[in-house]
Amino acid sequence: METKISTIAIAGAGTMGQGIALACAMAGYTTRLYDIQPAACVRALQQINLLLDQLVAKNKLSAAGATALSNKITASSERSQLQANVVVEAIAENLLLKQNLLKEAEQLNQQQALLVSNTSSLSVTKIASVLTNPGLCAGLHFFNPAHILKLVEVVVGQQTARETISRLSTFAQSLGKTVVVAKDSPGFIVNRVARPFYTEALYALEHQAASPEAIDALLRSAGFKMGPFELMDLIGMDVNYAVTESVWQGLNKPARFTPANVQKEKIEKGELGRKSGKGFYTYPQK
Ligand code: NAD
Repeated sequence: METKISTIAIAGAGTMGQGIALACAMAGYTTRLYDIQPAACVRALQQINLLLDQLVAKNKLSAAGATALSNKITASSERSQLQANVVVEAIAENLLLKQNLLKEAEQLNQQQALLVSNTSSLSVTKIASVLTNPGLCAGLHFFNPAHILKLVEVVVGQQTARETISRLSTFAQSLGKTVVVAKDSPGFIVNRVARPFYTEALYALEHQAASPEAIDALLRSAGFKMGPFELMDLIGMDVNYAVTESVWQGLNKPARFTPANVQKEKIEKGELGRKSGKGFYTYPQK
C-alpha cells in the first residue's frame, strides 16, 4: 500500500529550496530543509520569514498564519532531515552531486520515498541511474519564485514508473501548481524554449549593441514581466550559465546556444546576481 504524503524533505536551502519549502508548508506539509552548509540553513529560515512578513504586510496572510507556516518548516545540516515521503533535491546543478544526494536519500528512506530532482536541465534518467529503484525517481521542475509561480514540469525519466508520475502530479497539484508532463530531453520544455531569450541578450551585450538596462527596458515594454538581465540576476548567474551549458552540450553544441563569455566572466568575479548582491545590477544586502 502506498504511503500517504505528509512530510517533504528539500535538499538545498538556496533560492529554489526556500521557495519550494514555502509552497509545501502553505499546502500543509511538514517541511524539512537540508543543506550541506549550516549558514545556508540559517539564511533560508530568515529569508522565508521575510517572505512571510511581506505576505502579512500585503494582507494576504494573518500574523498567526505566518507563525503557523514558519513553524511547519525546519532547516538543518543533519542528514536525518532527508527522512520524508517525498525528497526534492534543489542542490547545485551538478550530476554527480545530485546522484549522490538522491542515493543517500533512497537508503535513508529504505526505498519508500519518492525522489525528485528540481534540475533545470540535467538528464533525469542519468540522475536516477544510480538508484536501486529508479522507478520512484522523476524530475519536478519548479520555477522561481517557487511559492508563487504556478507551473511545474514533471519530467519522466526512462525508468520512472507510471504510478510515480501520477503520484507526483497529484502532489504538485496539492501545492496549487499547474502540471505539465515533459520528456527527459535537454532543458525539458521551458528551459529549452527560453534559452535564446538569455543567449541573444548576452551576445547583444558582448557586441556592444545595447546595455542591459536598454535591453531589459525594451523587453519589458514589449510585454515581458522582466528583461533577460534582471531575470538572470534573479535566477543566479551560476545556475543560468550551468543550464545553458547543459542544454548546449545535450543538443550537440548548436552555435545558437553557445554559453556567453560575458556571463562566464561575471561568475569568475563572484557576481552571481541578487544572491551575491551584484550581477548585471547591484542589490542592497539584507
Ligand atoms: P542556489 O545556489 O541558490 O542554492 C543551492 C544550495 O544547495 C546552496 O545553499 C548549497 O549550499 C546547497 N548544496 C550544494 N551542494 C549540496 C549538497 N551536496 N548537499 C546539500 N546541499 C548542497 O541554487 P538554486 O538557484 O536554488 O538552484 C538549485 C537547483 O534548482 C539547481 O538544480 C537549479 O538548476 C534548479 N533551478 C533553479 C532555478 C532558479 O531560478 N534559480 C529555477 C528552477 C530550477
